[in-house]
Amino acid sequence: MRVVIAGAGLAGLSCAKYLTDLGHTPIVLERRDVLGGLVAAWKDSDGDWYETGLHAFFGAYPNMLQLFKELGIEDRLQWKEHTLIFNQPDKPGTLSRFDVPDIPAPFNIITSILRNNDMLTWEQKIRFAIGLLPAIVRGQKYVEEMDKYNFSDWLKRRGVGERVASDVFMAASKALTFINPDEVSSTILLTALNRFLQERYGSKIAFLDGSPTERLCQPIVDYITERGGQVRLNAPLKEILLNPDGTVKGFLLRGLNEEQDQEMTADFYVSAMSVDPLKVMLPEPWKQMEFFQQLEGLEGVPVINLHLWFDQKLTDIDHLLFSRSPLLSVYADMSNTCREYANPSRSMLELVLAPAKDWISKSDEEIVRATMAELEKLFPDHFKGDNPAKLLKSHVVKTPRSVYKATPGRQQYRPPQKTPVANFFLSGSYTMQRYLGSMEGAVLSGKLTAQAISDSLRGDKGAIAPSVANSSNLQTLTRPPATNAATA
Ligand SMILES: Cc1cc2nc3c(=O)[nH]c(=O)nc-3n(C[C@H](O)[C@H](O)[C@H](O)COP(=O)(O)OP(=O)(O)OC[C@H]3O[C@@H](n4cnc5c(N)ncnc54)[C@H](O)[C@@H]3O)c2cc1C
Repeated sequence: MRVVIAGAGLAGLSCAKYLTDLGHTPIVLERRDVLGGLVAAWKDSDGDWYETGLHAFFGAYPNMLQLFKELGIEDRLQWKEHTLIFNQPDKPGTLSRFDVPDIPAPFNIITSILRNNDMLTWEQKIRFAIGLLPAIVRGQKYVEEMDKYNFSDWLKRRGVGERVASDVFMAASKALTFINPDEVSSTILLTALNRFLQERYGSKIAFLDGSPTERLCQPIVDYITERGGQVRLNAPLKEILLNPDGTVKGFLLRGLNEEQDQEMTADFYVSAMSVDPLKVMLPEPWKQMEFFQQLEGLEGVPVINLHLWFDQKLTDIDHLLFSRSPLLSVYADMSNTCREYANPSRSMLELVLAPAKDWISKSDEEIVRATMAELEKLFPDHFKGDNPAKLLKSHVVKTPRSVYKATPGRQQYRPPQKTPVANFFLSGSYTMQRYLGSMEGAVLSGKLTAQAISDSLRGDKGAIAPSVANSSNLQTLTRPPATNAATA
C-alpha cells in the first residue's frame, strides 16, 4: 500500500520506517529543508552544529532504544553515569548529586534519595514518600486521574511541603514540559516518577554522539529509501483534499519557486505534523466532527535553546545538569558530553530557556545577556579574577510552539492515531501514547500509526495483515544497556 505522510519529525520518520517493515511504501513530505522537526540541527559557517533542543535519551525509552538497535546505530548513544545532577543556587558553584546504585528498582532510586541530604531534609523525604504511595500502589489509573491538578496543588494535597516543589520539581517540570510545577499536570511528573521507580535503568541518561539530523534521522531515511520509500524535503502540505464522502482524496503540495501545486494520491494518508499546523489545515467538514474539535484543547508551548561557545573550559562534567534557575532549565557542556562536539580546552554550553513565554519575542542579544547573568551565578569562579571566561559566539533557536503544553486536563484532548476518517491517521508526540511529549513518544506514536493502518487493512480485507507486534524486527527491548561503561 502507498502511504503519504506529512512531516519528517521523529513521528513521521518512525511511522514510515515501521510501514516499510510491514511491506508498505511510505512517502514522507517535509515542509522545511531539514529533517527532524523538533530535533532538527544546522551547521554554521564555522562548521559548528546548533540544534532546536538539547536532547537527552533515557533508559526508560524502550521504543527509541529498539529503533537504534534495528538501525544498527546503538553505538551512537553515549551513556552517562547513572546519576542526576543539580546546581545549588543557594551555594553558587556547587552541585548536588543523586547517585543511583546498580541495584534493582525501586531500591536504587530510593537509596539515591536517602543518600542525598543537600536538597531534601529527612522530614521532606518521609512526607514525599508517603505522598507518593497512592501513585505506587494504584499505578497508572491513579496517575491519569491526577491530570485534574497541577503539580504544586498535588504536592499540597498530599501534605508535601512547598519547598520540595520549588527545589526539586521545578527542575524536573521544566525539563520535561518547559513549564513550572504550578502549571504542569500532575500526570506528567507522576508518570515519569513511576517509570523511574519501576525500571532499574529508567533514569539513566544518554546523549547522541553528534547532531540528531545526521546521526539519527538520516539513518532512518536511508532505511526507508533502501526499501522503496521516499522522504522529500521542501515539500509542504498545503491542503487536505476530500472526496464527497469526507475521506481524503489527496494531499495538495504547495509548489515552491513558482512551480505548480501538486496533488499526491495514496491508499492512506498520515498527518505527522505537530498539532498547531494540523489544526490550521483541517478541512471545513472535519471541523464539525467532535474528534477533530478536541484538538482545540491542545497547543504547542514556547521554548528557547541556546548555544554559547567560550574561550576556556567552564566545567569537566560529562552529564546533563538541572540548573534550578528560574530562567533556565537543563543544560550540558556539549564539549564533554558529545563526541562530535568535543573540545578539550573550550566549553560549548547548550542550555534550554524555559518557561519561555516572556522571552520568545525578545532579541537574541537580550536572551544571551540574561543567560550570561544566570551563568555568572552558576559558575562564579569563571567569570571574575585575572582570566574571566569570554563568550566567543552564540546561537539562539526559538521555537514558539514546540511540544503540546501539558497543563491539567489535556490528557482527554490527546487523540488516538486512528481517526474517524477511514483513510486518514495521526502521528506525533502529542497523540495518545504513554510517553508524553518526548522523542520516545514521537517514535512510539509512529509505530502505533503503522500498526493502526495495518489493523485497518485487516478489517477491510478480512485477511491477516502483518502486525507490528508480530514482526520479528519489532520485538520490544525491555532494558537499556546495563553498564555505565556504555559511555565510550
Ligand atoms: C528545546 C527542546 C528540548 C527537548 N528535549 C527533549 C529531551 O531531552 N528528551 C526528549 O525525549 N524529548 C525532548 N524534546 C521533545 C522532542 O523533541 C519532541 O517530543 C519530538 O521530537 C516531537 O516529534 P514529532 O515528530 O511528534 O513532532 P515534530 O518534531 O514537531 O515534527 C513535525 C514535523 O512536521 C513538519 N510540518 C509541519 N507542517 C507541515 C506541512 N504543512 N507540510 C509538511 N510538513 C510539515 C514540521 O516541519 C516537522 O518537521 C525537546 C524538544 C525541544 C523543543
